[in-house]
This record gives sequence, structure tokens and C-alpha cells, in this order.
Amino acid sequence: MENEDRKLDTNKLDLHIQVVESQVTEEEVIEEIVDSGKVEDAFYVCDVSDIVEKHRHWEHVMTRIQPYYAVKCNSHRIVLETLAALGTCFDCASKGEIRRVISLGVSPDRIIYAHPAKKINHLLYAAEVGVTTMTFDNECEMYKIKKYYPEAKLVLRIRYDDPTATFHLGEKFGAYPEDAKQLLAVARYLDLNVIGVSFHIGSSRGHNPDLNAFHGAIIAARTVFDEADDLGFHFTLLDIGGGFCGNKGATLYEVGAVINDVLDRYFPETNIDVIAEPGQYYVNSAFTLITQVHTKKVLNGQEIARMYFTDVSVYNSMIDVVFKVPFDMTPVKNRKPNSRKLPSIVWGATCCSNDKISGDIIYLPELYIGDWLMIHDIGAYSISISSDFNGFPLPNVHAFIRKDDWVYLTEKIEQPVPKEKFVFGDSTDKYLLTGLTLPSRYTTNYF
Ligand code: PLP
Repeated sequence: MENEDRKLDTNKLDLHIQVVESQVTEEEVIEEIVDSGKVEDAFYVCDVSDIVEKHRHWEHVMTRIQPYYAVKCNSHRIVLETLAALGTCFDCASKGEIRRVISLGVSPDRIIYAHPAKKINHLLYAAEVGVTTMTFDNECEMYKIKKYYPEAKLVLRIRYDDPTATFHLGEKFGAYPEDAKQLLAVARYLDLNVIGVSFHIGSSRGHNPDLNAFHGAIIAARTVFDEADDLGFHFTLLDIGGGFCGNKGATLYEVGAVINDVLDRYFPETNIDVIAEPGQYYVNSAFTLITQVHTKKVLNGQEIARMYFTDVSVYNSMIDVVFKVPFDMTPVKNRKPNSRKLPSIVWGATCCSNDKISGDIIYLPELYIGDWLMIHDIGAYSISISSDFNGFPLPNVHAFIRKDDWVYLTEKIEQPVPKEKFVFGDSTDKYLLTGLTLPSRYTTNYF
């Protein structure tokens, strides 16, 4: 009877998150799912406790900096609703992202529209729903905003590049700091309300950003604040962008110490709000992708000893492979833990020969048909950039949370998001839960 009570309601599966005892590990949840024998296709496991823990760590280290989660990084509903409940704000870059966040009951003043080149109909939508704070980096954008949303609060995005970044954003976005004064003069002429400065030094994967870049960017922003002062503006917002590593084991201590120190020196004013736009930090380690080996080629006398074929692809979940981002892959169960690791290639599902999800040769123990592989640190820029190319579906998401974190989270729900808005999953969402009834140690229905 007790077990029956603990089962998920299969009629409402898409509204559920699995709640497990506090000591349960992610590996145990994954093993339980694959051992059930009921899953045929690749799936993600989302450890919601990991997101909760990331937020606690952020609050502990980045004491002065309000996070605006970059929705583009992973807009899965479970992520957004968890972060809304935790009290983060949001960085949206389009009408669609704004709509998605507002539909959760998040107030528009918790959103920054952080795209310096906005489509007019998206800008009008921001005006309609009351998202007032937005970035710009060019004159055309100022004229556009003057015409369509003159009451907006503008944030000048400047360029400052981290040379070690995997994705350099500076070529596309950000005014050179030396051009800031001229842009601000135009803003003055147009009588626009510019309230601060933003930058994004670039997005690194698998490592923390270059600390000198953060250091230099904050100093460059200070110069722009002072120039703005001379022109009669009174800036109150500094937005230090994203780029914080979100891999398992990464911490904010080092990067936070540098940022806090530079902020104390260059922005000692307490009336300046400092915000950031972390994306990957919040979600990367929370997601693991699990895929099954369905075909194997054994090669003799070659550099590569084994080739494995799986049902995930760079197109449906791992586009970062194309940008040379390495992923850590391990078998769910190693049948022969002491066996020699072999140089292997892991292929994606599609007929495309670029669909090589291991990137390069990797060393794996001998795998057999039906074995499952876990791909770690895959929450960022995976789900949100995916297609069903070649007919391979997007992997579903199975979310779980540990009991203590569930209690902590549900206590928080009262305040920032009305409780009735807090619905895990959504039948209109294209990424539903795996649809399993798990004989878990502890599961609960939200409704
Ligand atoms: N903010 C802006 C404007 C971005 O373009 C991005 C990513 O490209 C982010 C925030 C998030 O960056 P990350 O995921 O590296 O933290």
C-alpha cells in the first residue's frame, strides 16, 4: 500500500518531478530508469537539486550581484520555474523568451531584454508587457527605441573580449568603450533614459573565464560611468554578463573573489545595482544525457579500435560538439571495470558524417549492444538548440529533486511566484518527462 501511494500518477506524468530521498545520487536515478527496461530512446536526467545548490552557491559568493538567468541557455520549463521560485531574474533576448518567462507569473521588472539589436515587433511586445530595461550598442537602436518605446531604460553594452572564450561575442555585439561617449551624446540629444553599462566578455565552455578580462571590463565600464556623469546621466546599473563555468566541480570562488574585489574598488557606491547574466552556470551540470549503444563496429589493427552508434546526435542535443566543446562520457554500468580502455569513436544517430558525438577519439571500456552511456555536463545550449533532423526525436527530460531541496524550494514558492503558477512540466512543452512510473524510495505528486 505504501508503495502504491508513492507512485506517480501516470495520468499526470507531465506535471511531475520525482522527489527522492536526500542521499540518492543521480547515478542511482539513472540506473533505476535504465533497469526498468521501459525506456527505448535517449533521455536527459535533470537534477533539480543541482540547480538549487548552484543558486545557494551564487548567493554565498556573489553577494552583491543579482543573477538574471540567460534563458537562451536552456529554456526548459523545469529550469525556468525552479529559478523563478528561487528568486532569480531573467535575461531574455526575444519576444518568445519574454513571453515564456512572463507566462510563469514572473513580473516584467525581473526581466532585462538583453539583445542590442531588437526586432521592432519584439520591442513593441516588450513595451506592451512592461519590460522596460534593455541593452543597446548602436545609434540605429537608439532611434528605434526613441520611436517605439521612448520610456525604456537603456543599458549601453560595451565590448570587452576574453581571449580564452570558446564563443567570442564581441565581433557581433558591444560598442567599443572609446565610442561610448559619442553614443551617449546621441542618447542625450534624443532624450533617452540610459541607466547603465553592460558587457559580456564571451562564453567559455568547460573552464572559468579569464579573470583579467573581467577585471579590464569592469574598469572600462567605470570609465563609461564617469563619461556619462559628465553628460548629465546618473547611471545606476552595471551588468557584468555571463560566462561563468557550470560544469560539475567548478566553483565561483576564484572568479567571485576577483569580481568582488574589482567592484569594491571601482564601484563602491551602494546605489549602483550590479547584475549578471549567467546561463551555463545554472544548468550545465544539472543535466546528463543518457543514450543507448545500438550498433558497434570492431576494427582491427587501426588507430581506432571500436565505433559505437547511439541515438543522440549533434543535431538533437549536442551541437556544441561542432564548436569543439569536449564532453565527458561514461558507461552507466561498466560490465568489466578492470578491462582495458580502448580508443573509440561514438557516432551520433543521423546519416551525417559530421555527427560524431565523441568529437575526437576517446577511451572507453568495451561496450556491448544495449549498454547505456551517460554524457555529463550537458544542460547548456543543448535542449535549447535542437532539431529532429533525420527523424531522431529530441530526448525527453526526467527531472528529480532531493527531499530537502524540495522542501526548501516549495517554501520559497509562496513569495516570488504564486503557488498555482508553479507547475512542473507542461503538456504543451515539447520536452516532456520520460513518462515512467518509478518504484522510487520517495516520490510525490505536486498536485
Ligand atoms: N548574456 C548574453 C547577452 C549572452 O549572449 C549569453 C550567451 O551567449 C549569456 C548571457 C549567457 O552566457 P553564459 O551561458 O556563458 O553564461
